[in-house]
Amino acid sequence: MPSLTLKAKREKSLLRRHPWIFSGAIAHIDGNPESGETVDILDSKGNFLAKAAYSPQSNIRARTWTWLAEAVDADFLRRKLDTAINRRRKSDTHTNAYRLIHAESDGVPGLIVDRYGDVLVLQILTAGAEYWKETLADLLIELTGIKDIYERSDADVRALEGLEPYSGILRGTPPKKLIIQEYGLKFNVDIAQGHKTGFYLDQSESRNLVGKLAKGRDVLNCFCYTGGFSIHAAENGANSVTSIDSSGNALMLGAKNAQLNDQPAEIHEWIEGDVFKELRTFRDSRRNFDMIILDPPKFAPTKYQVEKAARGYKDINLLAFKLLRPGGILVTFSCSGGVDAYLFQKIVAGAALDAGADAQIIKELRQGSDHPIALNFPEGAYLKGLICRIT
Ligand code: SAH
Repeated sequence: MPSLTLKAKREKSLLRRHPWIFSGAIAHIDGNPESGETVDILDSKGNFLAKAAYSPQSNIRARTWTWLAEAVDADFLRRKLDTAINRRRKSDTHTNAYRLIHAESDGVPGLIVDRYGDVLVLQILTAGAEYWKETLADLLIELTGIKDIYERSDADVRALEGLEPYSGILRGTPPKKLIIQEYGLKFNVDIAQGHKTGFYLDQSESRNLVGKLAKGRDVLNCFCYTGGFSIHAAENGANSVTSIDSSGNALMLGAKNAQLNDQPAEIHEWIEGDVFKELRTFRDSRRNFDMIILDPPKFAPTKYQVEKAARGYKDINLLAFKLLRPGGILVTFSCSGGVDAYLFQKIVAGAALDAGADAQIIKELRQGSDHPIALNFPEGAYLKGLICRIT
């Protein structure tokens, strides 16, 4: 088997079971492995450390499949997928759309599989997962009994692996548009054109929780996408719900989702615009709210964009604090891998201070439990949120 031999003292992170092997840690590569092929990882003295998938173009040159000297084959992958899928069984009770396989955090680097009712959407992000794609598709059909798989391997990060973007049918005849159930509510999902694999499943649990706080409130949902938080807020008795997004298509689906749930059209206002600008317009016209949700896109995908991202978070959170009435609630998120929970809380605290708002955190939020964070892979903790109350 081809192998990667690490430089002296560079085995530390592997011994702590972090799955990534960076190019700088490698002394030499033997056996001419092809992209995605399984390689042995050896320490500088030639001792076996792990089996990993080789990514010749990526700075993350290999990702660990296993720390045991076992075969990486269809049986191995079946065991990994089966374990992850069985962990999700309980998710079926409140929603029929949830993540089945969460990549590194489920021990399957580079593979994301989301279930939307009777359809699976698969996303391949690394050379190693790409190498096993057809086997993975067959195993998913075997293990879930679902026959229709759509592929959304069109995320930007694939370029870092030297992989072309691809989107299309992988197995069966999946519909491009479908309707899912989330905590008793229905949502239209466009698995072919929507963001990510179609829906922000990672916010499902938070949408349910946050919606319950909306009763009797004038709610502003910023970066609303297809209205996830908006529909939950309206269902729980919000007085009014104003939703902003820069995507006209997302907003159209949002309005359709309100209809789908028989919500009165008068409750909802949908604004196509830039949140940074719209918040200033509200400030200048002295429009206030009792609850504001901020769920922006990634401002800092990695640690290199942190400073600029921090300014972005500070700006919108400061404006939101200013627009909130006394007793108001701010629900604020960051999905930037480069900004950790501690830094995010500091930014929000700075925003409150500059806005002259006294506020307290009443709840901390994370991605839903179908997006687990393996303790040996802290990079998995990307989504963090705070529910703050103005005192
Ligand atoms: N809360 C949503 C997910 C939000 S994702 C849910 O639960 O489904 C972030 C959204 O922000 C995307 O829909 C994207 O179109 C939108 N967006 C990105 N930049 C924006 C900007 N400057 N102003 C308004 N919307 C923006």
